[in-house]
Amino acid sequence: MRSHVYADHAATTPLCDAAWNAMAPFFREEFGNPSSLHSWAKRPREAVCGARETIARCIGAQPDEIFFTSGGTESDNWAIKTFGSRCVVTTNFEHHAVLNSCLAVERMGGTVHRVSVRRNGMVWPGEVAAATKRECSGLVSVMLANNELGTLQDIKEIVSRVDRSAWIVHTDAVQVVGHVAVDVTQLGVDLLSASAHKFNGPKGIGFLYISKRIQDHPDFRPFLNGGQQERGMRSGTENVASIVGMAAALKWNCDHLNENIERLDGLKAQLVEDIKSVCPTVRFPVDWQEGQLPGFISISFLGHPAEGLLHLLDLKGIAVSAGAACDTKNTQVSHVLQAIHLPSKYANCTLRITLGVENTQQDVESIISALSVLLRRT
Ligand code: PLP
Repeated sequence: MRSHVYADHAATTPLCDAAWNAMAPFFREEFGNPSSLHSWAKRPREAVCGARETIARCIGAQPDEIFFTSGGTESDNWAIKTFGSRCVVTTNFEHHAVLNSCLAVERMGGTVHRVSVRRNGMVWPGEVAAATKRECSGLVSVMLANNELGTLQDIKEIVSRVDRSAWIVHTDAVQVVGHVAVDVTQLGVDLLSASAHKFNGPKGIGFLYISKRIQDHPDFRPFLNGGQQERGMRSGTENVASIVGMAAALKWNCDHLNENIERLDGLKAQLVEDIKSVCPTVRFPVDWQEGQLPGFISISFLGHPAEGLLHLLDLKGIAVSAGAACDTKNTQVSHVLQAIHLPSKYANCTLRITLGVENTQQDVESIISALSVLLRRT
């Protein structure tokens, strides 16, 4: 059995070979600044341009709708603070990058309406549409998949129910891009946030899709002031190696999407069945396995506090998560589990196991064998 099993891919993913190989030249020999006028700029400039085209193709966008950022947090901040400064309609189970951006909007005098999520981890499109009717215009921000439950939301339906002449629609797709097919035209959103380290790319790089439809909106202002990078909207010398690595990682995932989904669904089904036989009292907070991200399992082991179980699994070389990784200092029940009204006796015992493309059947067996020992002991 392998002694090290990483099963926390919703927190971050390992860099894939395609990304590493694409990035390498831009750390040393191709170090030029893409904005320079001399020939050292040529390859980096072409690489940034090519990466933008690749990313756009992967999500059904135009290259001039892709704006590079430092990751999901920045993309969410940009979308909300720029287009939602007067009014935001969002949900109560968003990532803190969205929740705290909304608090910033309120501190600046804007209004925020938070729609409650259902017990099954789904947002009801009708409730989002109803909340927009209470205001004249603004931004709707609903995540495409939740980072603790993995539940995929019906954003297309939300988009179709909102008055698009008055409302701009943003989705935080950080957990989804590279894992499930994402087409911005089919979804109909105006803004979409993504982060490379969630799809086998490097950390500290992401993008915000901004549709042409809203690029002449009066609220579309520079997020970072400075030079002319990102068409003057997000200034700063481009992180060339990371941009190139992000594009290579996304292409690699999109090229293997169906086979990855099939493999991860198979591993997840096996893990779920085996866990049920080892621990018949387990409960799944969202209680259904369809409409969830591939390889994503949220599971409550009644009577086994999650944090203790996490550390015991870690001692056995198995990495999983209890609540969101960004929340490790916060020992309270996560806002997501509270949002779905999961009783605290289950919420305190909820682990997130997220499998990734490099996991194997042997990894699943290692997780099961460790759990069967620990659940008997704790
Ligand atoms: N949004 C969601 C749904 C996430 O899961 C995360 C990270 O966990 C973020 C935003 C923040 O992304 P980043 O780590 O790139 O800042």
